Amino acid sequence: MAAAGKAAAFHLPPLPTVGEIIKLFRLRAQKELSQNFLLDLRLTDKIVRQAGKLKNAYVCEVGPGPGGITRSILNAGVQQLLLVEKDTRFIPGLQMLSEAAPGKVRIVHGDILTYKMEKAFPNHLKKNWEDEPPNIHIIGNLPFSVSTPLIIKWLENVSKRDGPFTYGRTQMTLTFQKEVAERLTANTGGKQRSRLSIMSQHLCTVESCFVIPGQAFVPKPDVDVAVVHFTPLVQPKIQQPFELVEKVVQSVFQFRRKYCCRGVEILFPERERLKKTEQLMMAADVDPTLRPVQLTMSHFRNLCNTYRKMCDEDPNLFAYNYREELRQKKRKRSPESTDQLEETV
Ligand code: SAM
Repeated sequence: MAAAGKAAAFHLPPLPTVGEIIKLFRLRAQKELSQNFLLDLRLTDKIVRQAGKLKNAYVCEVGPGPGGITRSILNAGVQQLLLVEKDTRFIPGLQMLSEAAPGKVRIVHGDILTYKMEKAFPNHLKKNWEDEPPNIHIIGNLPFSVSTPLIIKWLENVSKRDGPFTYGRTQMTLTFQKEVAERLTANTGGKQRSRLSIMSQHLCTVESCFVIPGQAFVPKPDVDVAVVHFTPLVQPKIQQPFELVEKVVQSVFQFRRKYCCRGVEILFPERERLKKTEQLMMAADVDPTLRPVQLTMSHFRNLCNTYRKMCDEDPNLFAYNYREELRQKKRKRSPESTDQLEETV
């Protein structure tokens, strides 16, 4: 029995199992939507535990589907759970869960890529950026085709402190294809070091929590899955606008097997490319013969800060687009030389 004066822990009443819900509402997974369900509640509990203490928390679950993770979140004693689900077939099953947890669940039938989360939670939950994270969490097992563009969008929101981060340093616990999780968490020199490593780690503490083997899902995907936890940093490691960091990082990794200066070159128009690249590498104190995967976060910070100075001195520089210059050249040249240009991209 609960101690006098203390609220009893919330537990969902007996319900049909997730497997039974799938049968009841004929929720056949749609392969074209990359739907892979988790039916084992010990596993969904384990995912939800990675988010930390959820007692009285406000949670947004993205892509609840038949509701396995949803049940684990509710059993963790949350105050409110917002569900954003794109596939209308799942709504009746989610409504059943909502009735079993009166007043706790809000269901939004919509697309998380366009859903505006800045007004989703009460204003009193807002924390200053420098404070501890607010008691708001995002949790989700999304299709791989959605989770990568979504994390890029949310990293941009972290950088601008808007969207879900209007409330402060909202934490996220999300699943990714194992290889993508490795990219998100790769250290300097790691095989999977990439644009995603720098973009995520300069804005967040990124932790790979555990791997879920493909066979744990129904139907089984061809790949394994990893759970990744993100906490936005108080101070980003690179203090420049998101678009500028993204441009520098993307350029550097454009030629991941070449010296890093090869990627840096494409930040500059052809007529001044070599001179400006040398100037940037020297001022940023980066050895041009390092490979992109060997660059540390402080190398990227120096490159971004120096590129920013160069952009401030030359207002046309940031708008320069290497691919656009290539396209224009292509139009002028014969088809044979066009093929050669394609190979250099
Ligand atoms: N969370 C459930 C589980 O773990 O069993 C379902 C996972 S399934 C991989 C992905 C879920 O995300 C599906 O329910 C799918 O309909 C939903 N989904 C896919 N794209 C979405 C989007 N853009 N916005 C919201 N939900 C989406």
